[in-house]
Amino acid sequence: MQRPEGKTQSRRVYSFLGVAAVLIFRYIYIGWSNYLFREKMKLTKEDKKLIEEAKQIIVKSQPVNLIDTGEVGSALITPKGNIFRGVSMGFYCGIGSCGEYQAIGSMISNGEKEIKTIVAVWYDEKKKKYEVIPPCGKCREMIAQASKKNQNTEVIISGTKKVKLKELLPYAWGGSIEK
Ligand SMILES: [Zn+2]
Repeated sequence: MQRPEGKTQSRRVYSFLGVAAVLIFRYIYIGWSNYLFREKMKLTKEDKKLIEEAKQIIVKSQPVNLIDTGEVGSALITPKGNIFRGVSMGFYCGIGSCGEYQAIGSMISNGEKEIKTIVAVWYDEKKKKYEVIPPCGKCREMIAQASKKNQNTEVIISGTKKVKLKELLPYAWGGSIEK
């Protein structure tokens, strides 16, 4: 009676060790791949320049002096190297749009639809400080619909980090207005 019980116990120990080994391996693997991914997506000089472009468009819009307009500035660069900018707009009667809308509109008005990198910067009036902010859900959708290739658009989401659009919009329904 004792020997089979001993075997069962050691089997339990082995299976416990097996599960622990799998979990440890998984933990190390995920941690390592996140680390590698983060290294790859570090901000480049071009990205930092784009953040500055987004700040500058806020400054440029200031003379209009409208409530809720020009708080957010957006800048994007296309694969051709062209930069387009825009600011957020807020009008009464529920009329308004994000900075990204205006930047994308300017890009489309100039005959392009693919976005290499995009960023939005918010000017915090109280703190007198600029802050990089991630795009809202509608802007993520707009970037995705403009071109199927924009799934790989790099979106700067903070002063130190960027991710691909497909990570911000997983399980996208795949609708694009491309003809
Ligand atoms: Zn938005």
